[in-house]
Amino acid sequence: MSEASLILDVRATLGEGPIWDTRESVLWWIDINECRLHRFDPATNRNEAFEIGQRVGTVVPRASGGLMLAVQDGFATYDPEIRKLGVVADPEAHLPQNRFNDGKCDPAGRFWAGTLELVEEDMTAGTLYCLYPDGRVEPRVPDVGISNGIVWTSDKETMYFIDSPTRRVDAFDYDNETGEISNRRTAIALPEGMGYPDGMAIDSEDKLWVALWAGWGVARFDPITGDLLEKIDVKASQVTACAFGGPGLRDLYITTARRDLDDEALKAQPDAGGMFHIKLDVAGVPSSEYAG
Ligand code: CA
Repeated sequence: MSEASLILDVRATLGEGPIWDTRESVLWWIDINECRLHRFDPATNRNEAFEIGQRVGTVVPRASGGLMLAVQDGFATYDPEIRKLGVVADPEAHLPQNRFNDGKCDPAGRFWAGTLELVEEDMTAGTLYCLYPDGRVEPRVPDVGISNGIVWTSDKETMYFIDSPTRRVDAFDYDNETGEISNRRTAIALPEGMGYPDGMAIDSEDKLWVALWAGWGVARFDPITGDLLEKIDVKASQVTACAFGGPGLRDLYITTARRDLDDEALKAQPDAGGMFHIKLDVAGVPSSEYAG
């Protein structure tokens, strides 16, 4: 049994969406409810916050410079140098009760991110969208409850996606040429007592690392057999997401939250909302950048 260590005591309300930026060797992450983007440099242990002005659900690097965000109002560019946000597409302008949540880029540089209802009541209110490099947006998965982790395999033929309330990781056939997906099926059904699947990363052996909301850790699964291979324990119950980074992509960074915890629970887990870290034997894979 392995346990991650607290590396940054930041007490985020809803720390989320870590992603390693190979351009600067830094970890971007977000605090959704506080409307903040963060930049963490493990070399100096310095963490810098950027006020976004609206809820921010995910962050990815942009090939032409800067970052892309999925915010409450849609897909947006973000230039951290001048702290400028520019919304480029808002597929749910007619749904002000929704916001964007987790997402990532596919191997062809399309940016996928999904939505959910702000009050998290209607578990069919969300949609998973795909933003093409030319700015076009297409809905890909309808009737989503809480759109979360998304990754692609090294052969670019399978996409894995988490709609948290289902407590499953689903697989889709994925066409890297067109960005079309098909043949949805269950890859992993989360064992009882492990909470809810949230964010997710994929390693160089095509195994999945699933953050466990209300599950005190991150679990490694074989998505072909559905078997649980390993669990990394975290001293915080609300584990939200994880990302490989550092030299050789062997450092796993894990975000957590304080949301949904009462005073008593927070007293019992004072590190909640912190960033955790563990060194692994297996390496991750670099995250794709948005090609637009
Ligand atoms: Ca999440």
